[in-house]
Amino acid sequence: MTGGEGPLQPGLAQVQRILSESARLAALCTACGECVKACPMPAFALLPAAEPAIVAAGMRAVLSGAPASPEGLAFVAACTRSGQCNAACPERLDVAFMLRLAGMRAKGATGEAPLVAVKSDPGWASRVKAFARMTMTEEEQSKWL
Ligand code: SF4
Repeated sequence: MTGGEGPLQPGLAQVQRILSESARLAALCTACGECVKACPMPAFALLPAAEPAIVAAGMRAVLSGAPASPEGLAFVAACTRSGQCNAACPERLDVAFMLRLAGMRAKGATGEAPLVAVKSDPGWASRVKAFARMTMTEEEQSKWL
């Protein structure tokens, strides 16, 4: 922690780790879209008609700090940590971790300007929570929802 910036603000060393690991994983991602196809969330997150490779490219852009597309941001924001993406990745990347790192970057946790929030859609949170209730234990729900 850096003090005075709130308990969720990572310190400089952690920010550097987030940025270097984000860059490393983004460079390994081919944006094939297999993780998007395996993910149960797109139907609940403004993505049902989006091309998986486009969504994946958007996620990779968020991860690397490049200009983000609405599809990429929506995929990052919709992650409920199901982990189904990991088994689908032909590059054997930890996609769930990539999404977590991308989420940190999107929220500005690394000191960068936060990206436009997809939560401007008023139905977004309720759709994500509805899906999460189907997949989470009661203990997980009390912790995460
Ligand atoms: S499945 Fe792996 S390589 Fe393909 S887009 Fe997802 S993270 Fe990238």
